[in-house]
Amino acid sequence: NITLDNVVKTFDTFRAVRGVSLDIGSGELVALLGPSGSGKTTILRMVAGLEYADGGQIRFGAEDATDIPVRERGVGFVFQHYALFPHMTVGENIAFGMKVSKRKRSRQDIAARVADLLRLVRLEGLTERYPAQISGGQRQRVALARALAVDPKVLLLDEPFGALDANVRRELRRWLREIHDELGITTLFVTHDQEEALDLADRVVILKDGRIEQSGTPEEVCRAPLNAFVMRFLGDTN
Ligand code: ATP
Repeated sequence: NITLDNVVKTFDTFRAVRGVSLDIGSGELVALLGPSGSGKTTILRMVAGLEYADGGQIRFGAEDATDIPVRERGVGFVFQHYALFPHMTVGENIAFGMKVSKRKRSRQDIAARVADLLRLVRLEGLTERYPAQISGGQRQRVALARALAVDPKVLLLDEPFGALDANVRRELRRWLREIHDELGITTLFVTHDQEEALDLADRVVILKDGRIEQSGTPEEVCRAPLNAFVMRFLGDTN
């Protein structure tokens, strides 16, 4: 599991994250939900090791995250605009992480793994296509396959479906939940879309101005919002 213990992050004088404590259980799918600027992405980047906390502590299991180099944290990412390499095919994009990883694999082994991943993300047959030749939703599936290619222990998703239209988002949501249930991989998911968070997550963490306003299962936060902000934010379907 991953633990955030009173984590603080300040940019110059701006306090983007103001004492966040959070426990993400092994295999859990947790959504960080909040309006723009509430600190969601900053939290994700600190878990990934792309940004350092300047107060509090992040732990992976019992180990202080600052002692674990980024490449050894076992995290996979998908971002909203995580551009695939345009000059590489879908298959080459997925294989990329395996080729640069420390763990050496044979060519056949990589090809077999790419085929498995394409089956997992339901994109069999698209290996030879280039990113420009597939849809936005398919591109995000490829991005997820690429993130999964290196067997991450933790998956970090930052508005992965943000740029897509509502129907595609809904479909990908269902699909992500299935993949999550199949692999049981610990997942931290950032979104500003309450419907997406409530629909997808085991637990929702609602943020405002760098602080947690409420955390609980979708049922708990909907049934008993702790304050007016949470009530308004959950009720606001944009
Ligand atoms: P969004 O949904 O718009 O991405 P967010 O909830 O993910 O919002 P963050 O991206 O974590 O919010 O940003 C939190 C605050 O920290 C914002 O006010 C942002 O301007 C500020 N911030 C983030 N990164 C930096 C940086 N590198 N330098 C200065 N300020 C930053």
